[in-house]
Amino acid sequence: MAASASTQLHIAIIGGGLAGVTLANALNQISHIQVQVYEAAASFTERGAAVALSTNALQALEQIFPPGGKDALLKKAGAVPLNSVRSVVGSGPHAGKIIFDSAGTESEVVVHRASLLRELVSPLPQDILHPNKRLSSLKPVSGTHRIEVVFEDGTKGEFDGVIGADGIFSSVRSHVLQDKAQKYAATPAGFWDCRNLVPMARAKAVLGEDLFAEDRQCGWVGDGAFLMHDVLENSTMVQCVISAVESSPTNNRKRSLNREILTKTLQNWLDGPIAKGMIELALDQDDLHGYSQWEHKATPYYSAGAVCIIGDAAHAMTPWQGSGAAMAFEDAMVMQELLSQVQSPIQIEAAFKAYDAVRRPRCQRVIDSSRETGMILCGQNADAGLNPEKLGQLLATKWDFIAGLDMKEHKKDAVTKLNDCISEALNLTEA
Ligand SMILES: Cc1cc2nc3c(=O)[nH]c(=O)nc-3n(C[C@H](O)[C@H](O)[C@H](O)COP(=O)(O)OP(=O)(O)OC[C@H]3O[C@@H](n4cnc5c(N)ncnc54)[C@H](O)[C@@H]3O)c2cc1C
Repeated sequence: MAASASTQLHIAIIGGGLAGVTLANALNQISHIQVQVYEAAASFTERGAAVALSTNALQALEQIFPPGGKDALLKKAGAVPLNSVRSVVGSGPHAGKIIFDSAGTESEVVVHRASLLRELVSPLPQDILHPNKRLSSLKPVSGTHRIEVVFEDGTKGEFDGVIGADGIFSSVRSHVLQDKAQKYAATPAGFWDCRNLVPMARAKAVLGEDLFAEDRQCGWVGDGAFLMHDVLENSTMVQCVISAVESSPTNNRKRSLNREILTKTLQNWLDGPIAKGMIELALDQDDLHGYSQWEHKATPYYSAGAVCIIGDAAHAMTPWQGSGAAMAFEDAMVMQELLSQVQSPIQIEAAFKAYDAVRRPRCQRVIDSSRETGMILCGQNADAGLNPEKLGQLLATKWDFIAGLDMKEHKKDAVTKLNDCISEALNLTEA
């Protein structure tokens, strides 16, 4: 039932990346919510190449959008089914042996990041989108439940609730965690990676035609590193990724790479089928860099009062299980369900507590599982090493708990928690 104008809830979303704009779409459909999105950059854009959307990511989007909305969005964004995934041993005595081959199920897609963000922004009313607005601080408005949002340009606004979707080094996270922010800040996860996009003809010339007989994502598991190539942009481009274990992380996330460093990193791969070619392709870039993967190892809570965090602001993770955006979509789905149930500004705190209760355990499990998967894929599992059978067994079930979430049940759990939190708050007031 639509709430009357007097019970309109005013929500600010800080950050207009995949998490923020997906949440804006989710909340914009609730008649008693007025949402505004504030983005520090001059426009709502994404960098980087592709993002793979897993079954659960797609199911969450299905829940968020009206019927047919998710399919239309993905079509406009040019998403293509992840037809086939192959995993192969890349170094050592079993180099070239297939670990597993999984056929396409149409249940996952790959999409260009910028196109996905563009299509998520396009249905939103222009007047709720505010680029060039970098959050400076958040303050409770005394005597009310409202939050004052102050931007670096000196402008301010007051909201019933603030949701931080401002990425891994989130300012809203610092506000939520206060004196614990430093302790729970993002830290290196133990890997770095470099990525580049090369034309299909170039990839075929360097890596061999056979590897591209089918449009597939192919990952190579080897000593201390993992190499991947996958086909994008209607089979015209190939994304090439070199990831490796980072033995001595530094505070600088960006590292310069060159032939010598890559050759040393992949020194035990060089007589195998893939490494030399991948090094050649990486060196096609003028200014070659690797990026250290950072994550939130733990987070004690995702909300404090009428402020909470979603997406990478809450649970930045390594990319090994391709789940960061998926978790952001699930966050948005749960928040949509909770805030659609909230009747008054006073209940927003309860909704954010309920969100924390259902989302934090799941996201933390994915963070930990993703890091473990990275270790397996870099040949670091003590038992499996680079044995294809053992690797196959270890990896076979690793994604099950991620893909297997029942979205409707998850939303129900969140609403049960919301009702508990509201009752708890009422009991406290009456006591
Ligand atoms: C290499 C790599 C590969 C990945 N592959 C996959 C994959 O295949 N599948 C998958 O599901 N996930 C994947 N992920 C994860 C996924 O990309 C992220 O989880 C997701 O993009 C995070 O979105 P976000 O909106 O939370 O954060 P961000 O994209 O970081 O957006 C945060 C936004 O907030 C803005 N902002 C920051 N500070 C402020 C401020 N003070 N005021 C206002 N605005 C602010 C920023 O400008 C930015 O636009 C991958 C990640 C990496 C690094």
